Amino acid sequence: MAGLYLHIPFCKRACHYCNFHFSTSLKLKEPLLASILREIDLQRDYLGGAELRSIYLGGGTPSLLSVAELETIFQKIYEIFPVKNDLPDFEVTLEANPDDLNEAWLNDLKARTPVNRLSIGIQSFHDDDLKWMNRAHSAEHALTALELAAKTGFHDLTIDLIYGAPTTSDAQWADNLRRFFDFGIPHLSAYCLTVEDGTALGTWVRREQQPPLDEEKAQRQFEYLMSATADAGYEQYEISNFALPGRYARHNSSYWSGEPYLGIGPSAHSFNGQSRQWNKPNNALYIQSLENGQVPFELEVLTRENRYHEYVMTGLRTMWGVDLRRIRAMGNDLESYFLQAVQGHLEKGHIEHSDMFFKLTPASRFRADGISSDLFKLEE
Ligand code: SF4
Repeated sequence: MAGLYLHIPFCKRACHYCNFHFSTSLKLKEPLLASILREIDLQRDYLGGAELRSIYLGGGTPSLLSVAELETIFQKIYEIFPVKNDLPDFEVTLEANPDDLNEAWLNDLKARTPVNRLSIGIQSFHDDDLKWMNRAHSAEHALTALELAAKTGFHDLTIDLIYGAPTTSDAQWADNLRRFFDFGIPHLSAYCLTVEDGTALGTWVRREQQPPLDEEKAQRQFEYLMSATADAGYEQYEISNFALPGRYARHNSSYWSGEPYLGIGPSAHSFNGQSRQWNKPNNALYIQSLENGQVPFELEVLTRENRYHEYVMTGLRTMWGVDLRRIRAMGNDLESYFLQAVQGHLEKGHIEHSDMFFKLTPASRFRADGISSDLFKLEE
């Protein structure tokens, strides 16, 4: 089984915090979509014939495409890859922004494509947050989008929310979560705002036009997120992902469990069990290379240490934790190293273990990545 990701690198506006690859000009949309179809053809053997159990259209903003354009992409995918669409949890997700959604487009999407799950970039239900983030939608758009999704029969929904923004008070954050619960949405991705290079926010902080983010507030809002979602019956199955029982995101879960996946489009990443590769994040270069029959990518063959690092990093972020047997299978020396390195965190109560599994305690989840990096093995 495998997953397929498609990156649609266009957005209406540049959100101030976002460092994903996208262009706010749609000038190259048509040649880029033609190049995506070419890349699907060229990558037909990458997954070695494995059947697709999930397809994810992300970006960027896939909801900027017309349904006819999306239909053409899906026709190509189904022509090239075996698709396991008879599985009960077969998942086809499309990321959408609230301001793009209208009833006719959603009805058409349902009728003409296999999309059965929407991931809606709400971020906040408050206009001052949305303005500060430079989102293209308003709080009213956010509410309307969720109503329209339900009305047109898209019940498998997930939304994104952001906490820790300077405009997001604790009361606003609680209100964002309350609105999420009120809609009865089965899945939430909640992200802590971070300052990234190459973004407007990164520049403001570097030039001291914006004070650094308030980490204490972010931690407080994260702790509220954990308790409010637990009270409402959601499982925190990954640090940033919350689901009603059994409603985990199939596609993202396959990333965390080490299943192979193919990424199509500029900046998309792929993994086949032995190596990772990523397409260069440049729309014009992508189009030109594909016109010449080449996929413009860079590749890294994963060493044993790379695999260990990735497994510890992703495993600790999930509610299932790190399975010692999987580390043992990578080598007895890595198992010994892990057991020695984890000892201090067990003593400090950052990590707990039962049987073969090592998991972060709730109080240490906010610092998940820092704790994982303490368990990394320095290259010899
Ligand atoms: S957050 Fe989403 S909509 Fe905003 S710039 Fe990034 S990819 Fe585009």
